[in-house]
Amino acid sequence: MTFAATVLTLYPEMFPGPLGVSLAGRALSEARWRLDTVQIRDFAADRHRTVDDTPAGGGAGMVLRADVVARALDSVADGRPILAMTPRGRPLAQARVRELAAGPGAIVLCGRFEGFDERLFEARAIEPVSIGDYVLSGGEMGALVLLDACIRLLPGVMGAPSSGDEESFESGLLEYPHYTRPAEWEGRTIPEVLRSGDHARIAAWRKSMAETDTRLRRPDLWERHEGARVQSPSGARHTSEDEPK
Ligand code: SAH
Repeated sequence: MTFAATVLTLYPEMFPGPLGVSLAGRALSEARWRLDTVQIRDFAADRHRTVDDTPAGGGAGMVLRADVVARALDSVADGRPILAMTPRGRPLAQARVRELAAGPGAIVLCGRFEGFDERLFEARAIEPVSIGDYVLSGGEMGALVLLDACIRLLPGVMGAPSSGDEESFESGLLEYPHYTRPAEWEGRTIPEVLRSGDHARIAAWRKSMAETDTRLRRPDLWERHEGARVQSPSGARHTSEDEPK
């Protein structure tokens, strides 16, 4: 099964863009995933090809019309999940990325201007997705982010598929820090434990670093991780004996 991405946008020329190079680009040319774009404007009904109108209730900007976007959407809907890029959506997280990557693909709606007429979300099964708490000028870069995160998980896309357990967010923690040669750079050395060859000590150090960095940098993730550990009986395996010396 090939992961099929369909992007609905006013700027199809933005695709594949960065997804045409490196891992994603090679995977695209190897047909490990496919990409179609739909020009939303093609579904406008008037001779000016209008896709937007002024906001009901007044205010700045323009709103994408529900009827035009729905026609574009209905032309491609085939059971794949439909995601709309909006800062009002649920923040994208690795767990959802994994689910999407394991499925048939995704239809991704990119907003512009002030976004979509809200009735669209009521009338169609659309999942609102945000890529973070900031405002972009359009959904296209959000779609690229979402698709990139999915594509790298597809079979055969990454050279050496790791178990996935250690990567940031997979365990609910940030990943531990990495180092490589030269062994000394600007007077700084690589932590001694990583050069010890002692795999148990290295694993313990990495676990401890992942926990410390998560606690300091992402107290929100840490709190959720600790909450889950306290609630699940398997949390009992984590004892002070696990801590590195
Ligand atoms: N007025 C809207 C922002 C519109 S930004 C609001 O304040 O909620 C224009 C478009 O950019 C949106 O329709 C959406 O498709 C995209 N966009 C902006 N920020 C985004 C984010 N954080 N995540 C996903 N898409 C975003």
